[in-house]
Amino acid sequence: MNSNEQLFQRAQGVIPGGVNSPVRAFRAVGGTPRFIQRAQGAYMWDAEGTKYIDYIGSWGPMILGHGHPAVLDAVHQAAADGFSFGAPTEREVELAEAIIDLVPSVEQVRLVSSGTEAGMSAIRLARGATGRSKIVKFEGCYHGHADALLVKAGSGLATFGFPTSAGVPAEVVQHTLVLEYNNIEQLEACFKAQGDEIACVMIEPICGNMNFVRASVPFMKRLRELCTQHGAMLAFDEVMTGFRVALGGAQSVYAKLIPGFEPDMSVFGKVIGGGMPLAAFGSTKKVMSQLAPLGPVYQAGTLSGNPVATACGLATLKEISRPGFYDALAARTQSLVAGLTKVAQDAGVPFVGDSEGGMFGFFFASELPQNYSVVMATDKERFNRFFHGMLDRGVYLAPALYEAGFVSAAHTEADIAATVAAAAEALRS
Ligand SMILES: *Cc1c(COP(=O)(O)O)cnc(C)c1O
Repeated sequence: MNSNEQLFQRAQGVIPGGVNSPVRAFRAVGGTPRFIQRAQGAYMWDAEGTKYIDYIGSWGPMILGHGHPAVLDAVHQAAADGFSFGAPTEREVELAEAIIDLVPSVEQVRLVSSGTEAGMSAIRLARGATGRSKIVKFEGCYHGHADALLVKAGSGLATFGFPTSAGVPAEVVQHTLVLEYNNIEQLEACFKAQGDEIACVMIEPICGNMNFVRASVPFMKRLRELCTQHGAMLAFDEVMTGFRVALGGAQSVYAKLIPGFEPDMSVFGKVIGGGMPLAAFGSTKKVMSQLAPLGPVYQAGTLSGNPVATACGLATLKEISRPGFYDALAARTQSLVAGLTKVAQDAGVPFVGDSEGGMFGFFFASELPQNYSVVMATDKERFNRFFHGMLDRGVYLAPALYEAGFVSAAHTEADIAATVAAAAEALRS
């Protein structure tokens, strides 16, 4: 048998850092990443046979838990019929119809293979449709690793950003404006100065890439007004929140709070693939008709709408569309956050948490942060000790304080209770 450490050593010889996506390397929290061998329901087992309650769920997709029988059946059957054809299939139409049914702001979608690809394509489409170059993003939101999005705020108000990655020339991010999340004043100043040059504003409406931070209702309301006034497209990156915080995504949550609220464009991923490489972006028919082969905005993909991935996504959407699914999921998630908050209070540790649907976050802080710099100023040492304390007790949380957590339909009350008991122990020691 290989130990996690042996596998990590071997991996580091042939894969940079031993991982195919950086957060998996445990750099933020230290220690050896667990090499996962298999998973079932709410649990994962590593190479050493250690069992964990999984609160990552592949970073969101596994909303039904691992190995759901109906999804497994659909995937087996699709695989037997052929892996990929490079030609259209009925299942792509069904999946597009299912997404449009659930998300009223979307009239057409195009399927792609990753959230990065979907976000990058959505921005190209917004620029093509508006004939404008500038885009706005918010510090702490992640929209995939397209060059123009690997950018942080410059100094001063609404200046152009700086690349956050080597290999991205400054010229490539010169049209990307980076603003502070939930800062209405800065948003207004930015639109006042250059609103008529902005193609789109992309936002994670409930941001899971700075742990769990909601866009405030006044902020979202003002953002919608400004985009409409200036003819900029409001693009919701729902790669994480879509079909995760509610069946209609975060936009359905804001539509309840802001009458008539809709984004102009939506980006999906994670849950819609059910664990397979699948993502999508969508908008009105008018905007989507700008895409090739109908319009001048080019976009393509050899494996886009892959038959096995669409089968997995469709089977997943079917299960989560059952009445009461999100009520049960939200109740379970709330009971986790409440339980953790209670044991932290008992231990005299400053702790706050929040959740929506099956997505949650918590901070070692006395109030919920509203933007990235506040998130990053929360107690990192304590988080890292807590993370390892939980991992040692068989609870697998996201290995960085700026990542959200996920509960699946397979998590039972007993799993939640075991997690809370582990937290009580970890916090005491
Ligand atoms: C995960 C994520 C992405 C990127 O998706 P990939 O499939 O990893 O490329 C984009 N936006 C958000 C909000 C995400 O959470």
